Amino acid sequence: MLANIGVTGLAVMGANLARNFARSGYTVAIHNRSVEKTDALLEAHGDEGSFVRTESLEQLVSSLEKPRRVLIMVKAGAPVDSVIDQLVPLLDEGDIVIDAGNSHFDDTRRREASLAEKGLHFVGVGVSGGEEGALLGPSIMPGGSRESYDALGPMLEKISAKYDGEPCCRWVGTDGAGHFVKMVHNGIEYADMQVIGEAFDLLRHAAGIEPCEQAAIFEEWNRTELSSYLIEITAEVLAQVDSKTGKPLVDVIVDSAGQKGTGRWTVISALELGSPVSGIAESVFARGLSSQRDQRAVAQGVLAAGTEDLGQLPADFVEDVRQALFASKLVSYAQGLDMLSSAAGHYNWDLKLDEIASLWRAGCIIRARLLDEIMKAYDGGEAPKNLLFAPTFSRVIADAVPAWRRVVSTAVRLGIPVPVFASSLSYYDGLRRDRLPAALTQGLRDYFGAHTYQRVGIEGTFHTLWSGDKTEIEAVDTH
Ligand code: NAP
Repeated sequence: MLANIGVTGLAVMGANLARNFARSGYTVAIHNRSVEKTDALLEAHGDEGSFVRTESLEQLVSSLEKPRRVLIMVKAGAPVDSVIDQLVPLLDEGDIVIDAGNSHFDDTRRREASLAEKGLHFVGVGVSGGEEGALLGPSIMPGGSRESYDALGPMLEKISAKYDGEPCCRWVGTDGAGHFVKMVHNGIEYADMQVIGEAFDLLRHAAGIEPCEQAAIFEEWNRTELSSYLIEITAEVLAQVDSKTGKPLVDVIVDSAGQKGTGRWTVISALELGSPVSGIAESVFARGLSSQRDQRAVAQGVLAAGTEDLGQLPADFVEDVRQALFASKLVSYAQGLDMLSSAAGHYNWDLKLDEIASLWRAGCIIRARLLDEIMKAYDGGEAPKNLLFAPTFSRVIADAVPAWRRVVSTAVRLGIPVPVFASSLSYYDGLRRDRLPAALTQGLRDYFGAHTYQRVGIEGTFHTLWSGDKTEIEAVDTH
């Protein structure tokens, strides 16, 4: 019997995706560079569905129905190129190669263009949800050609997470769009976790609330508009007591956060697009600072705190923190979605923000009640230029902004770092400002580099003769 799909790369993600396809009724041909993983999968889960064991890529390809669908789930980077190079000579025109790993979208664009020249489809697919999601239903963000989606989409939709019965899988756009959307999803995930961390730090060190008591607070918050997977698991992590010491587990974990790179990629890409994702950037930098443990140890002895004794915290401080957390989280989503809009223009992708928000409602790490509202904000009518301008959200944030300001100023006065709470508030204020000091920046740039400036209310480009008689002349536009 010919298999409907082939999966090569059977580490945790590939094995679980292969099982998901088999459990959904597809016949799955499986392959791994070293055959041990193939046999381990068959031994442990071979009875879950219909698998075809293969030992080589040749065998894998020849076991597939046409057009062939080969899903690669190997380590991102050079291994993906190596597998593609081995696969291409074995495939026929119209076959589909799928990369469901965390590849950089630029690599996906390059690979798609190269395979298209050979008459093959290359589909970069963003998959979120970790191990469990891969097995039980991930959020899936496929790119590649529209035509390839017709042959592949129904299978991906079948194995994806469902929200109210709707699959969390849709074609998002051509070439690297799927991996780009997944990258930004991960950037938002970084910010989401950082704002939770900032709330935890404030409740602990400003309000003196112990982790186990905070667990109950986060559980309560999970019944509000903050309801999300990350808030839910925060309550569980904070409630966990270390069996070795009897202390809260969070107190015995080294406070240095790791990263695999997708947050960093988001920020690098945002810098290239000129997209102000300050919340995401601050969360990547916060992980960087947490990892500078040597410097942090020295700083404790040499850097003065200069903090204030506030006496009493603002009344209802816990509720203030909840509102600041929600507002900052909202800004991170707004910034991520704004970055997607910039990328759509730059890379010529027709990204639909309502559909993208809908994909993130189940299966993925940032799934949250908020995403349903975000989807509705972009669904139908004229899309808001920024998520924060959607009436639902401008109202919510207007209610939260006094608490947000109180929390940020309390944190600053107590010396508690809140990089995302504070930068998100600055972004919000920056957006609202009638005039920004960028005018002075332009004046300075014109002074030292003759970079010219534009004037309010007068067409043209101007330069002041700073080292001459300081008169203004019309200049050639250098923008
Ligand atoms: P992984 O540890 O990233 O990669 C291990 C797999 O890659 C093994 O099957 C290995 O084969 C294969 N491999 C490595 N180099 C190879 C080469 N040169 N040629 C052929 N095969 C090679 O596996 P993973 O954690 O399952 O992740 C797979 C992909 O999914 C990655 O891109 C990852 O970033 C992404 N992802 C992971 C998660 C997660 O939660 N782990 C979530 C979403 C996405 P051998 O067994 O022969 O060594």
